[in-house]
Amino acid sequence: MSAAFDATTDGALRSWIDVPDGSGFPIQNLPLGIVSRAYESPRVGVAIGDSVLDLALIAEAGLLEDALPGARAILTSGALNAFLARGRGAWSALRARLSALLSAGNEELRGAPGLTERALYPRAQARMHLPFDVGDYVDFYSSIEHATNLGRLFRPGGEPLMPNYRHIPIGYHGRSGTIVVSGTPIVRPSGQRRPDPQQPPLFGPSRALDIELEVGFVTGPGNALGTPIPASSAREHIYGMVLVNDWSARDIQAWEYQPLGPFLGKSFATSISPWVVSLDALEPFRVEGPHQEPEPLPYLRTSGAWNYAISLRIELQSAEMARRGLAPLTVSQPTFRRMYWNVAQQLAHATANGAVVRPGDLFASGTVSDLEPDFGSFIELTWRGTRPIRLPDGTQRAFLEDGDTVRLLGHAGGDDTPRIGFGEVSGRIVGADMGIKSTEVSP
Ligand code: CA
Repeated sequence: MSAAFDATTDGALRSWIDVPDGSGFPIQNLPLGIVSRAYESPRVGVAIGDSVLDLALIAEAGLLEDALPGARAILTSGALNAFLARGRGAWSALRARLSALLSAGNEELRGAPGLTERALYPRAQARMHLPFDVGDYVDFYSSIEHATNLGRLFRPGGEPLMPNYRHIPIGYHGRSGTIVVSGTPIVRPSGQRRPDPQQPPLFGPSRALDIELEVGFVTGPGNALGTPIPASSAREHIYGMVLVNDWSARDIQAWEYQPLGPFLGKSFATSISPWVVSLDALEPFRVEGPHQEPEPLPYLRTSGAWNYAISLRIELQSAEMARRGLAPLTVSQPTFRRMYWNVAQQLAHATANGAVVRPGDLFASGTVSDLEPDFGSFIELTWRGTRPIRLPDGTQRAFLEDGDTVRLLGHAGGDDTPRIGFGEVSGRIVGADMGIKSTEVSP
């Protein structure tokens, strides 16, 4: 697959809006999100530099109608779903139009009387909402390093990879209703766990609360029931990507996951970053994935580069660190480029049986673990608590404590090319207070 030259990714392009050095939101990015200020209804905005441009107001001024017929209704709807449903032609047309309007030398928007004063404002003033109404949510298991590590931890002594791993992009259907936007506090989940295999299970707050650093893609038009999406058409159905923190309670997971897979250990919360970075913006950062051996079945074969060179980072800050003004600790820096199964294979596999994909479905990659020590979860980083992480406040962590804040960050490029940032997805752990009687005995 080769894409035509796209002027919107040209590294020489500059905006008339100030973009600080090192910003992840230059004119080559143009990620979309759902924003509002006080008393405003949520609407579509685009991030540029340290600013937000309110696209609902730009559409009301008539500046987007030619590129996106119906722009006003689509961009005031409070979710990206209607835009996602329009498909690749509309996605690229709006991007090209925004790129033109924001380019240095273009006066259409900049010179419109009073418009930028109303529509352009500091990003710090924007309240960020969930960018799209999440329809179905699928979580894959596409990092072979992660799958190998988890196999060793959960099934010690056995073959770490299941026999199907190199044949099937393993995944499960998750819970879309508990997907939340970055910044939403995460309540420590309660559930069943069995710390002593010789004793009955207990019910109570998880003692092994973890994260999973993931990258997810959001879908566009979708397919009719019974009609698979071939891998070669993935680009027509994938709009863009977000960062995902798939919070996981390892003790609940370990007790419940056999024989049917993840359930309550995963479904209590999944956080996503608020800005959706388009595949168009990521186009310059496509790379070949790892060699797949054995060769996948024909419906899973892709041609061209379908992995993305995205640099990721996990930061942890305890409540005590925040109180003392200590900076968050970087605990891992994996890259996304080595994922075993790519997004086109994931989408082709998820629909191979004729299952339906709709605008606003979220497909998460699975934990992005790189080579040691850059793993994407604490269960791997601390090897199930046997190698705790030391924090600058003098404490140590096997898993997350109440008051801990985890921040995931990601970007592509940034050296000789524009830096295409995802922003961040963060969440702070708050104590369990479910009003449900615990069966734990107080120490
Ligand atoms: Ca996951």
